[in-house]
Amino acid sequence: MWYPNTIPRVLQRLYPQLLWSIATQEKVLYLTFDDGPTPDVTKWVLDSLDQWNAKGTFFCIGDNVHSYKCIYDEILNRGHQTGNHTQLHLNGWKTDTNTYIEGVLLCAEVIKSTLFRPPYGRMTRRQRKALLELDYKIVMWDVLSGDFDESITGEKCAQSVIKYARSGSIVVFHDSVKAFPRLQVALPIVLEHFTALGYRFEALPL
Ligand SMILES: [Zn+2]
Repeated sequence: MWYPNTIPRVLQRLYPQLLWSIATQEKVLYLTFDDGPTPDVTKWVLDSLDQWNAKGTFFCIGDNVHSYKCIYDEILNRGHQTGNHTQLHLNGWKTDTNTYIEGVLLCAEVIKSTLFRPPYGRMTRRQRKALLELDYKIVMWDVLSGDFDESITGEKCAQSVIKYARSGSIVVFHDSVKAFPRLQVALPIVLEHFTALGYRFEALPL
């Protein structure tokens, strides 16, 4: 499986309607966590973020919010931001636009947020246009930790983030069972490394 750990700015500029990073000179990073809420894993992330006085953004799957509403509420109660990741983690390339938008709107019944991240980063031009018309802010990323990749170590995930993240970067992690072995190693390293360099971690603005 090949994937880029960072998205070149030239590619980002081809899609200016999408949010790839936040323009700032300040030492601030935007950590994002996809695919939760997940029992134990999300709680562990929340505790880790608290330890470093960090805030993050959680792109949740609507179906998981229904199953684990208490965990979802705790994300918000502890001062983090949430965003829509569709009801059932739809792959836009394999889903017609009407079904895709239905999946977003169903998810929106439980996740009150203008932030949206397409599962797998995949969506068609029509889906993108429909979401922008609904006033969603479509959030991509400029740094992938690769924590979903079972062929690499957590240390490697942390090193990718350390190598590519800079002021205003949007970094992707997953609070999922599959990613947890790597997340558990990578997240504390990233939090410690960037805190020592004077960075802070903020939730994405709505
Ligand atoms: Zn996802």
